[in-house]
Amino acid sequence: MLPRCASPRPTLRRLLFAGLAAASSLGCLGMPSPLAPNLAGSIGMPHNGVLTGGVELPRRGPGYERFRPTSPVYWGHPRLVAAIERAARAVEEKRPGGAPLVVGDLSGPNGGKIPRHNSHRTGRDVDFLYYVTTPSGAPIRNPGFIPLGADGLAQLADGRFLRLDVERQWLFFRELLTDPEIDVQFLFMSRELEALVIEYALAKETDLALVWRAQTVMIQPVDSLPHGDHVHMRIACRPEDAVNGCLGGGPHWEWLEPLPTLEGPLDELLALVAQDDPFEPEPALERVAEVDDERPDTEPLSDARHGG
Ligand SMILES: [Zn+2]
Repeated sequence: MLPRCASPRPTLRRLLFAGLAAASSLGCLGMPSPLAPNLAGSIGMPHNGVLTGGVELPRRGPGYERFRPTSPVYWGHPRLVAAIERAARAVEEKRPGGAPLVVGDLSGPNGGKIPRHNSHRTGRDVDFLYYVTTPSGAPIRNPGFIPLGADGLAQLADGRFLRLDVERQWLFFRELLTDPEIDVQFLFMSRELEALVIEYALAKETDLALVWRAQTVMIQPVDSLPHGDHVHMRIACRPEDAVNGCLGGGPHWEWLEPLPTLEGPLDELLALVAQDDPFEPEPALERVAEVDDERPDTEPLSDARHGG
């Protein structure tokens, strides 16, 4: 749970006072402030927001490793970080002997803009490299942002081939999609890889409603690269997040718990608060061409749904 604030149902007046005070006097909302008791956790939009009360994903754990072990951008909403650890551990336990999931960037310690990304600002976004095997099916660690083609194959610089480990990939998605602690809002990935994963799921899965939900949240971004080399997952705001300032960043799917309607221009207030970016990128985190993620990572249209 996030560190909760005093009032479960903020009034607009309190929010407005808190937000304006924070924006004008604190410089940022990266740290919890008594002046803004109702804004906490994932605050604002994925492309214009900050994070308080985040937790850091450890460098490695059962079934996963960080792609950049020493990077400072592995902070996220506590529910997101815990869900990543649970899902990776479940894959390791259910299909032992595999290579670890490789986890890309989350967010900075206080959210805000980070290198390589336009979103990833509020602790609700994370990148995953795909599970891969050799062509003969031996699991190997994904060496990093290798584009997989429509056949699920990728060729490395040394001529060797990798193949999407569709079994572990679906198992991982299944764990995330059925985790009661998070609501998956998006799995940004290429249409070709979605087709491979969904084809496998339809053949193996008895819960077809789950497959339908998976297909619904799998979207190829309309104006960034097609995500053939990684998956970008975003979790949705929950009602307890929404009353503390979490704003959507896409459709709120019909199977999710409805969000409360706050009175007044909360959007404008949060946009104002989030303008002040608490995270200063470090020189060591300059863009790296081969892992230049989300160029740009932009939202699909608000009504974007895949597969009709
Ligand atoms: Zn991403």
